[in-house]
Amino acid sequence: MFDLNNSLRNNIRFLKPYTSARDEYKGNEGVFLDANENSFGSATSDLYNRYPDPLQSEMKNAISNLKGCKENQIFVGNGSDEAIDLLFRCFCNPGIDNVIITPPTYGMYEVSANINDINLKRVWLNADFSLDENQVLKTVDLNTKMIILCSPNNPTGNCISTTAIEKILTKFDGIVVIDEAYIDFAPNKSFLPKLNQFSNLVVLHTFSKAWGLANLRLGLAFASKEIIYVLNKIKPPYNISGLSQKIALEALKNSKIKEKFVENILLERENLKSELEKLSFVIKVYPSDANFLLVKTTNGSKIYNYLITKKVILRDRSNVKLCEECLRITVGTHHENSLLVSILNNYK
Ligand SMILES: *Cc1c(COP(=O)(O)O)cnc(C)c1O
Repeated sequence: MFDLNNSLRNNIRFLKPYTSARDEYKGNEGVFLDANENSFGSATSDLYNRYPDPLQSEMKNAISNLKGCKENQIFVGNGSDEAIDLLFRCFCNPGIDNVIITPPTYGMYEVSANINDINLKRVWLNADFSLDENQVLKTVDLNTKMIILCSPNNPTGNCISTTAIEKILTKFDGIVVIDEAYIDFAPNKSFLPKLNQFSNLVVLHTFSKAWGLANLRLGLAFASKEIIYVLNKIKPPYNISGLSQKIALEALKNSKIKEKFVENILLERENLKSELEKLSFVIKVYPSDANFLLVKTTNGSKIYNYLITKKVILRDRSNVKLCEECLRITVGTHHENSLLVSILNNYK
């Protein structure tokens, strides 16, 4: 069974966190001479002279209403990348512990592991991009602290089977991270409602994809309140700017706009898929549960370079194992997709 205290690194478990001025006094009104801010104002027309809410309570309130979880089950990071890095730092002893990933998958897991000097164990997806959950469980050893799954997976675009993930959550007594950056585009349900069922579950969401806010750098981790407490304890005190919090709050009030984006992107995705399937050099367009298509071609890097000369930029995945000769295409606007297809029609 998962035991949080035994899973944490000792230095993190016993860490006494920094207490900021805004932690020690939480009122909104008064003469604030506690944080060495500039009381005169900012060197801009709008005012940014006060430190932001370190625990983003207004944002969390809106997120908990939208996603149906408790505020104390939410961590807000400076992009999902911050949450991934903090998870490594909470649970993995550098040079000793390891993490299992299931490539081909998102490259940041490996980079974050390398930054933190954590060993990686790779269990490759099957040729049809499904997960071999038994192989994942067999790969676990005494120093395996975390299994990171990505569903829908980047760059393959497919969701990982719910029963496979649940088997891992049940049988593995360490942290299981499910990166759901693309969940808005998938028919599958999020694992969020299962937080109370699995104390070792961490779900990652982001504002960078469906919400259209990649520039803000806002990622979310959902987990038990005990895990969230630890993430908050080790994050930089003011990790989310006040401006980002304000804009995220505005977006959360407009979630209908996000739903409309998703609707349009799904229509465009199917449209683009059928257009690409007509091209002679396209061998296969993989089914997608995300806002991109993985496309197997006769010569990935040659097509990639041809498109660069036409100022259309795709992601070349042709050298990635299991994705040989594949290009990853983000679904764009109708105009962008038509332009891509018409340029591809002239490829020889
Ligand atoms: C795009 C993406 C993210 C988002 O990362 P941010 O740091 O929140 O922008 C997370 N995970 C995967 C798999 C992604 O493809």
